[in-house]
Amino acid sequence: MASTSALPIYEVADQIVDGLAAHGRVVLSAPTGSGKSTQVPQILIDRAGVEGEIVVLQPRRLAARLLAKRVAQERGGKLGEEVGYQIRFENVISSRTRIRFVTEAILLRQILEDPSLKGVGAVVFDEFHERHLTSDLSISCALQAVRSVRSDLKLVVMSATLDVERLETYLQPCARIEASGRMYSVEMRYMGAALNRDAAPVWERAAAAFRQQCRSTTETGDVLVFMPGAFEIRKTIDAIQGLSESKDYEVLPLHGELSPDAQDRAVSSGGRPKVIVSTNVAETSITIEGVRTVIDGGLARIARYDARRGINAILVEPISRASAEQRAGRAGRTGPGTCLRLWSEAEHVARAERDTPEVRRVDLSETLLMLAAADITQPENFAWFESPDAHALAKAGELLHDLGAIDAEGAITDLGRQMARFPLHPRYARMLIEADRLQVLETVALIAGLSQGRAIYRVARDKRVRQAQMDQIEDHADTRSDFFVHLQAWEFARSAKFNPSACAGLGIHGASARQAGEVARQLLSVAQRVGLGRAADSDDANRETLETRICQCLLAGFSDHLAKRNDRGTYRCRMVHGRSGELLRETVVETELFVAAEIEERDVRGDVTVLLGMATAVEFAWLNAIFPEDFSDKAVTTYDPQLRRVVCRSERRFRDLVLESTDRGEPDIDQAATLLATEVTEGRLLLKAWDSAVEQWIARLNFVAKHCPETEIAPIDTEARQLLTEQICHGALSYKEIKDRAVLATVKEWISPEQHYYIDTYAPATMELPRRRNPAKIRYEEDGRAFIASKLQDFYDVPGSSLKVANGKVTLLVELLAPNQRPAHLTDDLDGFWGGAYHHVRKELAGRYPKHEWR
Ligand code: ADP
Ligand code: MG
Repeated sequence: MASTSALPIYEVADQIVDGLAAHGRVVLSAPTGSGKSTQVPQILIDRAGVEGEIVVLQPRRLAARLLAKRVAQERGGKLGEEVGYQIRFENVISSRTRIRFVTEAILLRQILEDPSLKGVGAVVFDEFHERHLTSDLSISCALQAVRSVRSDLKLVVMSATLDVERLETYLQPCARIEASGRMYSVEMRYMGAALNRDAAPVWERAAAAFRQQCRSTTETGDVLVFMPGAFEIRKTIDAIQGLSESKDYEVLPLHGELSPDAQDRAVSSGGRPKVIVSTNVAETSITIEGVRTVIDGGLARIARYDARRGINAILVEPISRASAEQRAGRAGRTGPGTCLRLWSEAEHVARAERDTPEVRRVDLSETLLMLAAADITQPENFAWFESPDAHALAKAGELLHDLGAIDAEGAITDLGRQMARFPLHPRYARMLIEADRLQVLETVALIAGLSQGRAIYRVARDKRVRQAQMDQIEDHADTRSDFFVHLQAWEFARSAKFNPSACAGLGIHGASARQAGEVARQLLSVAQRVGLGRAADSDDANRETLETRICQCLLAGFSDHLAKRNDRGTYRCRMVHGRSGELLRETVVETELFVAAEIEERDVRGDVTVLLGMATAVEFAWLNAIFPEDFSDKAVTTYDPQLRRVVCRSERRFRDLVLESTDRGEPDIDQAATLLATEVTEGRLLLKAWDSAVEQWIARLNFVAKHCPETEIAPIDTEARQLLTEQICHGALSYKEIKDRAVLATVKEWISPEQHYYIDTYAPATMELPRRRNPAKIRYEEDGRAFIASKLQDFYDVPGSSLKVANGKVTLLVELLAPNQRPAHLTDDLDGFWGGAYHHVRKELAGRYPKHEWR
């Protein structure tokens, strides 16, 4: 083993010790390979004299294990003694452990259970630039501990990037330390467009790049290939091993699902040159010595909220430019290197500059449930390192409430506590708990597996395949859930050993079916770990059928997607939370009430319409049994747009969705008038007699009200319009009764007879002009201006002072019209106009209209 004391981190070791002594908190940025992960925990013990346990947070299980092993080795001990690790389902620690590498969820659970972190001397947040939601939360909780009961707790935050300003501000006061690494130059090569339709799969392009590199140079060193996951890694290894150029190389995978031995093999040095095909664990978490060539597939699996399924899904996506930069750097650790990017330069520019932190892209309900379990019930007041979007937070809270995990105040329920023990999305936790109670755990776990990956079954377009689907699958499936069709398809796939072509003959995606089975197995083992699954699925004749119980579990998990058809036979429906939706035609479900496991929201002109897929029948009685507290009964009087009349009904609601409504006779007459009036004032119904004459009169009244307060006339504003409309509508129940009612007379009753005098004199409808045969109209506008328009010649001999209204307070704006009735000029000073602008106006108009009189 080379001497670790030569690592760059030791150039700043004193600064780390001093920083901790001065502030107790350190932000450390240093390039990958400089010794952060392996050396800093040792520096804390050996040099900074930190007492108690050093907990080192690692975003990845694989890294936690490998680092612990390496540090134990460096310190000459056995893994699990002084140095250990703890990851999901694996504890390699003892009472003597001083350095404990943990994954993020482990620390978060520990800190939520014991906010004072008893026995811990320092927490090291490694790889903080990855910005997983759990490490964001952990750092908030740890800082909270330091500020309340643990002022002696040391915090070290480490990152491979220099982008740490926000952190420094957040942790103030703290020491900021930067170590520079030794980096050689890396030559960058772009291998051509990856997003072309005819681009080969990424593993084939990786193999081609490898061959090209071998042919162009003999100095490849070790080669590191980045692929998004285990599947692509296997494919890449097959493709590379199929090349003659690879015969001198050992080709090895590196990812979290390998055995510990296989993981060790990939990172150990010596022997033949290697090609390591790795996930992004080798991006910054794990350093592999001797790499001179990086082949970057440019993809990673990332967690993102999938609105269609209402869960967080793991998707393969292009990495950001910042990630690509880190990956390229792996080629320049021990000498100048080369990075082959399996995409084009144009595509590179189009990539995101950096990754969006998880807190801004995933569904927060699992996190909120964890916080609620630790009695943090007001997430909006939590000291987030970076606050989530308020809307996302509210939605997550709403879902937890719908699932019965928290009450109206946000406090966790007993059921919620049980759900919080599952390291799963609360939707699935809820479903599995219900499934256990009803003894259908195995089938429901498979359904959960089916709904997490891509669909295994699609209605085929091809006629022959479609017929086969009907004969062999759909005719045998219970019609109470679309999942029963998928289960039938899955059974077929399993009996065909997931053979792709046998499956394809029935429109089944074999690989996805196999994967769904694997996910189901994992879910079952999770359920067993938290104490479920002691009884096998049973079809006890005395109880409800198996299918009924399965449907009930789906209701428990998807009650926030409950829908009721508008009529029997239609696909249109109303949903909880005020949405309307449309069920996909290929459903087998025929009941009026159902839940949809997949929803796709479309915003059509401000109205959210939802497409509903993977439906499951629901019976009214089940709702009562599972969610007794979510019902309410109400007598309501409303305007029914279909009947075009006001009706009085008593409604039974599940949350806000009306499930039953019965007529209760004649509505209250005043209430009916108000409801009809609202329809009118909001423009959904039209009164025929509410015409421009009415509006003109209102404009005159408002003009007087504005300029002549001494008249004590109240303006007709929105509220007054509503009141007046109510008067007009009074006594009616339907639109038919009101649509021809008189309007003007009622509107005029707004003011007293004496006040009418003011309207006529202060805001006259017309004004006499000496040269006109009939008087000119005056136009009053809402902004308080009044206009008089007439032919220019009509204003000859009219003294400007006579053009006043509002008891002489407002001068009319004069619109002088050309002979063609178009405005030629606008003025509020007629006398001034004749001596000024008139000369220009006349010159122009007299030329065009010589026969008219021009003075
Ligand atoms: P950083 O966290 O800054 O990226 P590390 O502490 O992980 O750095 O690694 C420092 C150095 O220790 C690496 O450059 C590498 O040489 C060596 N190293 C770390 N882990 C191993 C290992 N499992 N096997 C061999 N060498 C290792
Ligand atoms: Mg590291």
